[in-house]
Amino acid sequence: MQHRQTQVIRTRIEQTPEMEHAAPMFLTSSFCFNDAEEMRAAFADENDNNIYSRFSNPNVQEFTDRMCTLEGAEAGFATASGMSAIFGSFMALMKQGDHLLSCNAIFGSTHTVIAKYLPKYGISHSYIPATATEAEWEAAITPQTRMIYLETPTNPGLEILDLEMIGRVAKKHNVILNVDNCFATPVAQQPIRFGADLVVHSATKWLDGQGRVLGGVIVGKKELIKEIYLFCRSTGPSLSPFNAWLLSRSLETLEVRMERHASNALYLAQSLEGHAKLAGVRYPLLPTHPQHAIAVRQMQNGGGIVCFELKDGLEAGRTFLNSLKMLSLTANLGDTRSIASHPASTTHAKLTEAERQAVNITPGLIRISVGLEHKEDILADILQALDQA
Ligand SMILES: *Cc1c(COP(=O)(O)O)cnc(C)c1O
Repeated sequence: MQHRQTQVIRTRIEQTPEMEHAAPMFLTSSFCFNDAEEMRAAFADENDNNIYSRFSNPNVQEFTDRMCTLEGAEAGFATASGMSAIFGSFMALMKQGDHLLSCNAIFGSTHTVIAKYLPKYGISHSYIPATATEAEWEAAITPQTRMIYLETPTNPGLEILDLEMIGRVAKKHNVILNVDNCFATPVAQQPIRFGADLVVHSATKWLDGQGRVLGGVIVGKKELIKEIYLFCRSTGPSLSPFNAWLLSRSLETLEVRMERHASNALYLAQSLEGHAKLAGVRYPLLPTHPQHAIAVRQMQNGGGIVCFELKDGLEAGRTFLNSLKMLSLTANLGDTRSIASHPASTTHAKLTEAERQAVNITPGLIRISVGLEHKEDILADILQALDQA
């Protein structure tokens, strides 16, 4: 069998009679039928014809097929954003009375969906720390628990959860394991290998990799994806064919990009460790990382995010950001250009101080999304800004 990277690059929309080399863009809202019978059969699900781009589209299908190959998944559905992928995976598979067990260190908007909106539909939740033991995970499962949800590495604390252990717990209790694999990407980690039933992504981040478009995708077990597809095709968070075309091209370079992001990140983390202005540096592949052993076991690289903690807290954080000359101050991550952000005042500002403390978001925490610039230029900008802070 061909290598995964070859399969991703060579999976494509069937060539049209024009014999184009690159995949064409199918910017069409609907598709035609030769006759009444063919149309009837399409609506009756008796053939695989495209009907309407809210249901399916060749560009979206190509992107989804490539993501299934990367994650080792049976099926998938692509959405307009990471949040619509996450929301769709919750709403299609849980009902009133069900319980969601989620790690407490999750993306800010995911926390809002779980804590503010799911209760409106009678779906309860409880949070568990990223460092919970197997016994603690087991104890947190109730007879109503339908799904376990987590991210690893977490955002922005970069804690590593043991996928093999949690996969075992989910299987034992017959609970769906849903993993947000946005930070690691399938190049570094494939949660399905450890027992995940579903993997969700914000394609907006590393998958696009150039800060251009929003997108999301859910891949996993066929019967679960079927439910998600039926929910999404009726409620409408479908991915635009234009965005799908861009994202699908991006997947052809994902592996080489992620290798460089990760080697730049490791260089940055190693170079900053022990700096006089810093209370600590976090990166999964630093031996000082508390879950380093788990990271080495389940990740092929450490990803592109490095976090550090300024000794002098909030004010030093502000001065640091204001002193950067090259790095961008922006809400995104996973770009060719390196980005600095201050989670406590931005992405995680809606959490209470206690909630932030529980997930390791201290006032002086800085998150760097390490780009593809030369590693020495990235380091030099951060070092000169630390001198000012
Ligand atoms: C950005 C992000 C999301 C949400 O994705 P959008 O594409 O912005 O909707 C979800 N999870 C993680 C870990 C993210 O970084």
